[in-house]
Amino acid sequence: MRAPGNQDDDGLFAVTGEGRALALFRLVLSFMAMVMLAFVLTEAWRIWRDYRQAFVNAEDSVTNLARASAQHAEDSIRQVDAITAALAERLEGDGFDKLDRPRLHALLRQQTSIMAQLHGLFVYGPDGNWIVTDKATIPANANNADRDYFTYHRTHSDRQVRIGSVVKSRSTGDLIIPISRRLNFADGSFAGVLLGTIRVDWFVRYYGDFKIDQRGALVLAKRDGTILVRRPFVEEVVGRSLANSEVFRNHLPYAREGIAEAVAVIDGTPRLYAYRALTRYPLVVEAGLSRESILAPWRHDMIKSVVVLLVLLLGLAVFGWVVLRQLRERIAIERALHQAHQTLKDLALTDSLTGLGNRRRLDALFEAEVGRARRQGYPLALVMLDLDYFKAYNDRYGHLAGDQCLRRFGEVLRQAVKRPGDLAVRYGGEEFTLLLPDTDAQGAGLIVQEALQLLRRLAIEHAGSPLGLVSVSAGIAVGYPAEQPITPEALMAAADGALYDAKRQGRDRCCLATNATERV
Ligand code: GH3
Ligand code: MG
Ligand code: MG
Repeated sequence: MRAPGNQDDDGLFAVTGEGRALALFRLVLSFMAMVMLAFVLTEAWRIWRDYRQAFVNAEDSVTNLARASAQHAEDSIRQVDAITAALAERLEGDGFDKLDRPRLHALLRQQTSIMAQLHGLFVYGPDGNWIVTDKATIPANANNADRDYFTYHRTHSDRQVRIGSVVKSRSTGDLIIPISRRLNFADGSFAGVLLGTIRVDWFVRYYGDFKIDQRGALVLAKRDGTILVRRPFVEEVVGRSLANSEVFRNHLPYAREGIAEAVAVIDGTPRLYAYRALTRYPLVVEAGLSRESILAPWRHDMIKSVVVLLVLLLGLAVFGWVVLRQLRERIAIERALHQAHQTLKDLALTDSLTGLGNRRRLDALFEAEVGRARRQGYPLALVMLDLDYFKAYNDRYGHLAGDQCLRRFGEVLRQAVKRPGDLAVRYGGEEFTLLLPDTDAQGAGLIVQEALQLLRRLAIEHAGSPLGLVSVSAGIAVGYPAEQPITPEALMAAADGALYDAKRQGRDRCCLATNATERV
């Protein structure tokens, strides 16, 4: 049997309806995916760029901080350096035995009041006793021979200024940084020490003025790593060593200034540091911003962006979902329509009594089959079958029994016809037609004989027939469209003629058309 609707426009229907909707569905889906991907990539790129920018900006900030702090420290110390140099020159020039102590005291006092950073100016004799200071009184039995700077200068002859570690002042109790130099007698022997002291507080206040976050750090340290001042200021930290820190170990030995990311030795905070060694004095300044503070604004911004992006993506997804759902509904509707259309078409081309094709189906395919046989050069057989004495059968057994008989003969034809390309139809009334492509007279004869035989075997009683059983007569016509022009009508007429012959010759048989359009 021919598969229903093989040669109609089903494929075309699918492409134009359901197919188009499917293509649209895929288009929308990939467009949505692309838009979303574009959003995500753009946002990711922007976030990455901002992250980099945050560090670039932070590097500028810490570098500026380090430069300003270094300059400040340098200036503060240089002033003390200059004044002690001038005083030393005067003391040594005037001679220690002819000292005018009240005048000297007034001078030291005046200098100390001019320079805000200066905590005090002190002159010690070779035994460490206080000779003169800027202070109003000298504590009884005051002796500084035990101080580190005093020991140093007594044992070292160099004349440069020396910066010591932070100590607590014996006169005021303040934390101070000692700036000292050696005094010589005319013969070059040790005459004592001249000391200028800078308040640690001077630096603490200066560092406190910078607008950096709470976890930021500013450090003034000696070149050996000993901390002099640090922001945030805690007294315990003063005097601790940074010698093992990242900057002092891996950067400072190679470059006087630079940038380093490191975890702080003092408080364990990861920071971005800029450091700078002072040019004149063996001091180093470090300015650090915590990673946290550098990234906080960026992170804040990123979270906002990500939330906005997620909302956007969600909106897009919802929108896409709605569109896709409508598309899918449309596809479902089109599929249902297509099926309904198909069913209707099948019904229109099917004989309701036997389930075989009907005459319309034959008409729809006949022309095309002739054309195909012509192109491919094979024979096309047409068989007309007509039940014998059927009017008598109806009269005798009733119309319902007649219908039942027609149905059974339909089954017989279904069995006899084997190839998928063969077509069996009920042409009308008790007449049936077989259209057999690529079948010659012999092949058609075999099929028809089998149908006759199958019907005989059913042995349907027919008292009104001389044969006693229901039988059928058949006429076969075979055309070769490749060799001779042939029309469906001509082939039908030839088969009809052969059928007439079979009836005339006594029925229950088949005849082959023998006119000019066929060959045996
Ligand atoms: P012949 O051997 O010459 O073909 O004799 P016949 O009686 O078959 O010839 P005819 O064509 O005169 O009769 C056809 C009869 O088939 C007429 C009608 O009673 C019967 N018939 C046609 N269509 C149907 C149908 O759908 N159902 C039934 N039950 N009978 C039908
Ligand atoms: Mg008839
Ligand atoms: Mg008949």
